[in-house]
Amino acid sequence: MSSSQTVEDESHPSITAVNRRIQRLSLHLTPLPPLQPSPQLHMLACAKAANKLEVDRASLQCYMRGKNRELQEKVINFFESKPDLQTPVGISMEEHRELCMRQIVALVRDAKIRPFRYVVDDPAKYFAITEAVGSIDVSLGIKVGVQFSLWGGSVLNLGTKKHRDKYFDGIDNVDYPGCFAMTELHHGSNVQGLQTTATFDPITDEFIIDTPNDGAIKWWIGNAAVHGKFATVFAKLMLPTHDSKKVSDMGVHAFIVPIRDLKTHQTLPGIEIQDCGHKIGLNGVDNGALRFRSVRIPRDNLLNRFGDVSRDGKYTSSLPTINKRFAAMLGELVGGRVGLAYSSVGFLKISVTIAVRYSLLRQQFGPPQQPEVSILDYQSQQHKLMPMLASTYAFHFAAQYLVEKYSEMKKTHDEQLVADVHALSAGLKSYITSYTAKSLSTCREACGGHGYAAVNRFGSLRNDHDIFQTFEGDNTVLLQQVAADLLKQYKDKFQGGTLSVTWNYLRESMNTYLSQPNPITARWESTDHLRDPKFQLDAFRYRTSRLLQSVAARLRKHSKTLGSFGAWNRCLNHLLTLAESHIESVILARFIEAVQNCPDASSQAALKLVCDLYALDRIWNDIGTYRNVDYVAPNKAKAIHKLTEYLCFQVRNIAGELIDAFDIPESVTRAPIAMQSEAYSQYTHHVGFQ
Ligand SMILES: Cc1cc2nc3c(=O)[nH]c(=O)nc-3n(C[C@H](O)[C@H](O)[C@H](O)COP(=O)(O)OP(=O)(O)OC[C@H]3O[C@@H](n4cnc5c(N)ncnc54)[C@H](O)[C@@H]3O)c2cc1C
Repeated sequence: MSSSQTVEDESHPSITAVNRRIQRLSLHLTPLPPLQPSPQLHMLACAKAANKLEVDRASLQCYMRGKNRELQEKVINFFESKPDLQTPVGISMEEHRELCMRQIVALVRDAKIRPFRYVVDDPAKYFAITEAVGSIDVSLGIKVGVQFSLWGGSVLNLGTKKHRDKYFDGIDNVDYPGCFAMTELHHGSNVQGLQTTATFDPITDEFIIDTPNDGAIKWWIGNAAVHGKFATVFAKLMLPTHDSKKVSDMGVHAFIVPIRDLKTHQTLPGIEIQDCGHKIGLNGVDNGALRFRSVRIPRDNLLNRFGDVSRDGKYTSSLPTINKRFAAMLGELVGGRVGLAYSSVGFLKISVTIAVRYSLLRQQFGPPQQPEVSILDYQSQQHKLMPMLASTYAFHFAAQYLVEKYSEMKKTHDEQLVADVHALSAGLKSYITSYTAKSLSTCREACGGHGYAAVNRFGSLRNDHDIFQTFEGDNTVLLQQVAADLLKQYKDKFQGGTLSVTWNYLRESMNTYLSQPNPITARWESTDHLRDPKFQLDAFRYRTSRLLQSVAARLRKHSKTLGSFGAWNRCLNHLLTLAESHIESVILARFIEAVQNCPDASSQAALKLVCDLYALDRIWNDIGTYRNVDYVAPNKAKAIHKLTEYLCFQVRNIAGELIDAFDIPESVTRAPIAMQSEAYSQYTHHVGFQ
């Protein structure tokens, strides 16, 4: 320090640094007021008229809070209080697997949180727990899912009282760790192609489970490599007959097969287990491969809710065909998809929170002779993160809706609702998990080099979440189920049938589509019009209706020459676009409803802003489609673009409040690069500086 400088001297470098740090910290705590327009930053041009919304954080937080927030806090606080149960960066696969097992046992036995009790009776609570444990360690979330939803859920949903009575407690307290063994080496997506057999032996009153060839080895089975004692094995049920065929294939059924001795943990006779080894992510889950060599199980081990075999080898079912039984069985297993969609939104919230916090704190470059600016003030950074923040809100409400519908379905077993939830869960699971997977990379990139440090979480989140796009149904395959359902509804509509609840809008929008776009409204470009939910929803639905009608016509045409399989394949990309478009309409409808239902005016205004950004950004992304058919005239397209940029900037102004409203415990979003309380000090300590 030179003699002419005093501590009060603000030009002193150390004081400037302190001031800057305080300023940075306050950026998150009190996000920047609207910036003054600066000639160097063109994106500020639209900010001249921008009035920053005042957001009542507490009320927005309260509106966004799930009903089971306390339960989630209990989970998170429990793990927070147990350092030995926290997953360190760089843990080995073997240690990680054991840690995950200890975590799940501690959750159930020490924290006394029993996820299994909610699987059927209160699914919203169950999904809340899995989201919370997944935020501690994604592997733990998946291990919980395998134990309680896949293995446990298959026993409860596909079995009957005798199975519940025998297995409930062991599954609940993790005395019976188990697996869900559906996928085989040769067949994953095509479950009806499974080859494992379960042949009834009337002499001993047993089923004999066999792996007929190596392609039928059960593969990727969670909990199989190390911990599982039982597996629900999906196999073709074969009944002896007196004709020349000798056996009759009754289709895929589920069977409980003990795989390891309950006391010694030795693999049981006739069963071979191999380890699927180190994976790109989720290394806390022990995935294994299972081969069966004439493994005998009692007849009672058939999970017989949808089909049963009597002592004398007679098959009975309330459902008339193999396809109907198969559909009913898979219909009972959609809970896994609902959970993945719900948890995926949770991971999106975590990564958006870290990336937005970092972008508010981080400063790079600036106008000449002026302080550096927050990187969130760059238009490009806003474009990376603000539509993503808006989508996170949109998905939050959509996932809540899905859980509500699923819970209702579990109570009522209403047939129409079952079909609706099946398509809705397939659509939302695929749309949300694909979006989150891409966003995790974008968030990493938005945090520059520091986003690449493992301690800042993007690496593990990205790698662990990546497979959400594939398991519980590959996303491309699931979207086709949505498209198939839409086509069925379309056909039914013209045959006078009723449309399911979620699809109901097609009734009106198809009619709108059949008349040409209105040349007058196509030119309307006022902000009020563009921010009118009716315009936004009409635009989304118009696109879906148009895609639906055109793909139906193409399928009809091509099936004459290519057959139905060939025609479907010829139109596949069109069908996938249709499914995504429909899901976006469903998501927007839920978001608009959530805005309308918000009781607090300031929160409602904030949500409206975010919802408009979500809607207009999507319309702008697909502007070519709207322009092609003159649904949107050139002047209107320009106005949509301008307004989207403006909304991006407005949302940026309240980004701090918006991420706070997710109300994620700080321990979960603890990325040293973006800590609100200690800024970079945690990060420098992490690499060894004192
Ligand atoms: C970490 C992990 C854990 C798992 N846990 C379990 C478990 O516990 N139990 C269990 O039973 N299974 C489990 N699985 C298996 C998982 O469910 C399957 O991998 C998944 O269903 C996809 O099947 P597949 O791997 O055979 O992919 P494939 O079906 O071979 O798909 C490969 C590609 O082909 C495309 N494709 C396939 N069919 C079509 C089509 N009709 N149209 C267009 N494209 C198509 C897909 O889009 C995909 O891109 C797990 C997998 C992993 C990696």
